[in-house]
Amino acid sequence: MIFSGIKIKRTAVLLAALFILSIPFSYSQDYKKVHFKNVLIDTHNDILTTALENGYRFDQNLKGRTHSDLNRMKEAGMDVQIFSVWCDGYKQNPFSYANRQIDTLYAWIDRNPEKMMLVKTPSDLKKAVKLQKLGSMIGVEGGHMIENKLSNLDSLFNRGARYLTLTWNNSTEWASSAMEESRAAKSGSGRPSTQLGLSPFGKEIISRMNKLGMMVDLSHVGEKTFWDAIQTSSKPVIVSHSNCYSLCPVFRNLKDEQIIAIGKNGGLINMNFYSGFLSPEYQKLDDEFKVKHKQERDSLLKLNPEPYFANEYLFKKYPLEVQQMRPGLSVIVDHMDHIIKLIGADHVGFGSDFDGVNSTPQGLDDITAYPEIIKEMIKRGYSKKDIRKIMGGNFIRLFKNNMN
Ligand SMILES: [Zn+2]
Repeated sequence: MIFSGIKIKRTAVLLAALFILSIPFSYSQDYKKVHFKNVLIDTHNDILTTALENGYRFDQNLKGRTHSDLNRMKEAGMDVQIFSVWCDGYKQNPFSYANRQIDTLYAWIDRNPEKMMLVKTPSDLKKAVKLQKLGSMIGVEGGHMIENKLSNLDSLFNRGARYLTLTWNNSTEWASSAMEESRAAKSGSGRPSTQLGLSPFGKEIISRMNKLGMMVDLSHVGEKTFWDAIQTSSKPVIVSHSNCYSLCPVFRNLKDEQIIAIGKNGGLINMNFYSGFLSPEYQKLDDEFKVKHKQERDSLLKLNPEPYFANEYLFKKYPLEVQQMRPGLSVIVDHMDHIIKLIGADHVGFGSDFDGVNSTPQGLDDITAYPEIIKEMIKRGYSKKDIRKIMGGNFIRLFKNNMN
């Protein structure tokens, strides 16, 4: 009896050990399986601008230089990428610059017909996924690129643009940006260089977009523009790359009442992976970094008044300091949790802002780390159904609802 008792005990210990060993194994296999089985859609990536400004080719190996390139998008399991067409408010002829960026994307697709295809409709999207080609979509980031002409909006739509971000950081004559509205509030002038909110022409633009089937993107817009736009739009809106103000109070994150309004509108908020829009702690460290290097920064700002040029330069110069400031990637899921708590899992997606930001959380060095986010979602108990919606299902619904 004693003998067999020991045997039973040994078997039990062995089984328990095997069980414990198998947990991390099956868990680590499982998140990759979930990730690669689902359709992954990212609603904002700035590689077009990065490639054009640096003379890079998207279909060459850009590892170590960018967050993404064609092969790494495939490796990340990306099914559909919305490429951002962008220029700042100082660019001369922004409409032709936007077209130049679209030409570049077309050239990438032409060179890689086996790997990429242009997606203009939900049925194109379905086809791209089926053929395992990178579904390539266009989003225009900044209303200034239509140069106040509805005909330019139509033309961009015809070339494939499926969202227009009403403003970037600069306001247009017909819509005020989050940056200018918050500056106006701080200075107490109550009025930026343009009017606040949407002008009658701004409302006309929204109606035209609704008619065309072009999504209204409310990332970057001021609160007044946000409320005017959401009341004007007859279709569900997109917020292509923004996070939650209550977790990270920066000028262009969404306040809870805005999130609730997007839930009612049937819209979609896509998580931005920029450390500074995710973590207030990072904001603090970044401010300290700016103070520490103030002298250098001020002289850079004299060369170019847009702060991102100076920031970019200093980040490259002091990589170790910058590395230590990064938050953990679980902060992304904190923001998702917050939105889900307010309006449910039908209104969350991903809009990484890869290649448009100079800091991403630890463990998310480039686009190939995407499955790590899914791992964190599984760890927190997200259902497979919700993960499928967040990774791409919600965007597909939004796209269909805008184009019908
Ligand atoms: Zn942006």
